[in-house]
Amino acid sequence: MFIVTITPECAPVAKVGGLADVVFGLNHELEIRGHTVEAILPKYDCMRYDQIYGLQEVYRDLWVPFYDRSIHCTVFFGFVHGRKCFFIDSHSDRNFFNRGVFYGQHDDPERFAFFCRAALEFLLKSNKHPDIIHCHDWQTGIVPVLLFDIYKNLGMGHPRVCYTLHNLKHQGVTGESILRAAGLNSPGHYIHPDRLQDNFNHNAVSLMKAGIVYSNFVTTVSPSYAWEIQHTDLSYGLGHTLHVHGRKFGGILNGVDYDVWNPEIDRHIPYRYGIATLQDKFRNKEALRHRLLLRQDYKPIVAYIGRLDHQKGVDLIRDSIFYSLANGCQFVLLGASPEHRTNDYFLHLKHQLNDNPDCHLEIGFNEELSHLIYAGADMFVVPSLFEPCGLTQMIAMKYGTVPVVRETGGLRDTVFDANYSHRPYHERNGYTFRDFNFQGLESALQRAIGMWYSYPQHFKELMINGMRYDFSWNHPGQNYLNVFEYIRDK
Ligand code: ADP
Repeated sequence: MFIVTITPECAPVAKVGGLADVVFGLNHELEIRGHTVEAILPKYDCMRYDQIYGLQEVYRDLWVPFYDRSIHCTVFFGFVHGRKCFFIDSHSDRNFFNRGVFYGQHDDPERFAFFCRAALEFLLKSNKHPDIIHCHDWQTGIVPVLLFDIYKNLGMGHPRVCYTLHNLKHQGVTGESILRAAGLNSPGHYIHPDRLQDNFNHNAVSLMKAGIVYSNFVTTVSPSYAWEIQHTDLSYGLGHTLHVHGRKFGGILNGVDYDVWNPEIDRHIPYRYGIATLQDKFRNKEALRHRLLLRQDYKPIVAYIGRLDHQKGVDLIRDSIFYSLANGCQFVLLGASPEHRTNDYFLHLKHQLNDNPDCHLEIGFNEELSHLIYAGADMFVVPSLFEPCGLTQMIAMKYGTVPVVRETGGLRDTVFDANYSHRPYHERNGYTFRDFNFQGLESALQRAIGMWYSYPQHFKELMINGMRYDFSWNHPGQNYLNVFEYIRDK
């Protein structure tokens, strides 16, 4: 099959969160299985250009219709750790992708609507006819609308669209002018409850709803989240739309790319290890302490890596720092927030804890350091309010770091409590809590810390159980292929 991914992120060049890892890992898996896979991304100025091999201009004059004129674009091609990627560079005075950040601009809906139009225009002009176009999140929700209402009539009758929802909190709700910008010229047709009209604000357009309504198949990133967004308020208003389109909707648990996240081959950690050489994990713990100037002591390290977003349970993350420090642990945090207020809050906390030899808070994004933290920590907290899938707990388990997580979304599908799970002992791999409050978090952390100190042998079994799980792209890759084949042949 020929699969083209139209995406705002791809690890490690343009990564804000898990979406980037998913695009890279899934495309890698599909290629291993013999399919031709290409990704199309914006050419952001803030990408990791050092991670792109052989970047070169491949299409010089791409004119992309936008409002009532055309914008001149150039398309580049390069390999991102072996993945084939096209990057769209726009030469408009709007400077769509040269903002120093990936998201968070007032005109994000326009920036990405333009990107979608440019990606399809590139496919048309370069005469590419993929079997499947795979799109992700609100940023690319308008792709199937453009494909079926404009580009099909221009000769692109072939591709089918699979649309993957990574997070329903961000839906790209915007004014109707976006339709005219993208070339969808009959607003009355689109601003309709069955099409693009936002379910809350009837004068607005929802780009995510566009993707759900117009795609041939919709997936989300875990079975539990698929249920939650159909039946609870975690749908942020899209539950009814998902019900209506329930026959073409399902949850596929994300995978982890074990060529990137694997302590046996990881080039970012000083000592490689596996189940048989678990003692070398503790040499990484020493290296982590050395790097972050933590004292060497007989204590577990509790870690958090992730966006510092309301969704991630910022108050509970803060609580886990103080609870861990007060209960004989060290704590390491690596995180950043797009919101200044939250970043400032954690920077303030960092200053407050600066002299504490048991704590290090790193505010920023650092892919390399994250590998050492996964390898060096003993426990890993993920106290999310909601979590569509969550990759960090799966990565942590691969590194023998025991997750302590709230039972929601993909966390519920991947972490099974040491004490209370119904699963057999050898399948239990962490600690979970249900209530989104301090008591819930602390009860689970207390059990994890107690086990580390009092029953190290049992704690080690949990570590090994986690390492044995197969969270690779093997199964999810097959599930995506089943979806792709189903819509291709329909
Ligand atoms: P989300 O997609 O909601 O951000 P996920 O758990 O699905 O969360 O994926 C997070 C990914 O981003 C993981 O690969 C994690 O290691 C990485 N990550 C998050 N924050 C940082 C950071 N500050 N520095 C380095 N890597 C980070």
